[in-house]
Amino acid sequence: MAKSNFVTDAHDKMYSTTVRQLREDLGRKVKIFLPGNPTVCPNCLFNSVDGKSAGIYSPTSPYPAGTPGPTPFQTSICPVCHGSGQYTRTIVKEILCHIRWINPEALQHSSLGDIMGADCRLQSDIKYLQDFRRPPMKIEVDGFSMELVKVYPRGLKKLAQVIAFLKFSPHATPGNKNRTTYGETL
Ligand SMILES: [Zn+2]
Repeated sequence: MAKSNFVTDAHDKMYSTTVRQLREDLGRKVKIFLPGNPTVCPNCLFNSVDGKSAGIYSPTSPYPAGTPGPTPFQTSICPVCHGSGQYTRTIVKEILCHIRWINPEALQHSSLGDIMGADCRLQSDIKYLQDFRRPPMKIEVDGFSMELVKVYPRGLKKLAQVIAFLKFSPHATPGNKNRTTYGETL
């Protein structure tokens, strides 16, 4: 019994090492754009009753670096948060993935992208599962703008990987539509 466990463990280790090595050899970095946590707008007075901008210019002092403003305004809509009272900052992560572009003409011969209409398949380390699940606002693969179709974990324990299917999304807009987002250009 102990011996067969040893063999299984050795095989598991060899497999996971090979998969990791392949990803490092053949993989490329994919850019994943995630919504950051909402921050109260520093440019206006926050109305905590309705959770929105009170529409009154009231800059925080000191004003946080890297945020647009302070911008005085006379109208009732704050130009920094557009009235929502909050903004988010995009987080960009680079994740090493094994990338597989799906040839639409080959779809009828494979089960990779059928039904979901996916154009690309990514395989990555299981530690990035939550990043794919947040969900990302946009994913950039080989310079193409993509959106997530489906993501799931595959394998157990140290053999686990993330499998993600993406489709082209040339007009991708941030998923966080009700808030103004600053940071990396989307
Ligand atoms: Zn504001």
